[in-house]
Amino acid sequence: MSPGLVFDVKKYALHDGPGIRTTIFFKGCPLRCAWCHNPEGQLAKPEVMVKASRCLPGCRACVKTCEARAIIRSKDTLEINRYECTGCGRCADACPSQAIELAGRLMDVPELLQKIFQDEIFHDSSGGGVTFSGGEPLMQPDFLEAVLDECRRRKVHTAVDTCGYVATAVMKRFLGKADLFLFDFKLMDEARHKKWTGVSNRVIRDNLALLAQNKQKVVVRIPLVAGVNDDEDNIRRTAELVRSLKGLIRVSLLPYHNLAREKYHRLDRTPQGPLLAAPSKSDQERLKALLETFGLTVTLGE
Ligand code: SF4
Ligand code: SF4
Repeated sequence: MSPGLVFDVKKYALHDGPGIRTTIFFKGCPLRCAWCHNPEGQLAKPEVMVKASRCLPGCRACVKTCEARAIIRSKDTLEINRYECTGCGRCADACPSQAIELAGRLMDVPELLQKIFQDEIFHDSSGGGVTFSGGEPLMQPDFLEAVLDECRRRKVHTAVDTCGYVATAVMKRFLGKADLFLFDFKLMDEARHKKWTGVSNRVIRDNLALLAQNKQKVVVRIPLVAGVNDDEDNIRRTAELVRSLKGLIRVSLLPYHNLAREKYHRLDRTPQGPLLAAPSKSDQERLKALLETFGLTVTLGE
């Protein structure tokens, strides 16, 4: 079994499924949502993130350890040549001030299971478990399946947070493998979906239908972004789709937040698209009420 590429393990997560959860962030995502709050999860390879404000005057520890000569250090600045960087992570290990962090480390199945099972006492006492998020966890199907199977053997509740953009054959393989799917659904209109995420929503809709038809437990999560998907037409059409797919257990509205902008700078990337914002509180409540008129159970912000 090849190892998986994981960029974070979050303990005591409260918003990624029921109870207290351990959330595992898989690296690599097929979408490029303009509002992505985990840009370090997009590329399926390790990446260096630099927090220049932490860099110590006169220090060159990272430069000395970089065999690829990918670090350019002048008196006041530090730059990474991302074409040369191999993602080995030596610079992050050598840095005395955590100015460099490596997003994405290879982890084998027993290592990840150990991290999950360490938290069992919190899972058991709260009705929680483990959530596989990202990035897109279904982009690493063999690794994910092996971890899910072991969690099931150990009776740990599992949730898979997916964007749904995977081959239907892959989604079929995971039917019955997770206790819960957190299914991100952004936009009904295909052209608008392409504009804001970079991909069509056809296979996403097919995969959502597949999960519903096979009686999987699914929470549909909609990120709410002003001017992107908060119009009544989109919300109405989404509600009709969810209602038609009987058995989906809840719609969760997740207002956009822009806490990730600093991460883009640390990766030397520019956020895609315009500066985005969440709809106003009153608009959020109005859209929640609109969804509820379709007989759906809706939560806001969780
Ligand atoms: S991750 Fe490795 S190759 Fe990249 S800058 Fe750091 S030490 Fe150099
Ligand atoms: S090792 Fe850390 S503190 Fe030292 S130069 Fe590199 S980034 Fe700055």
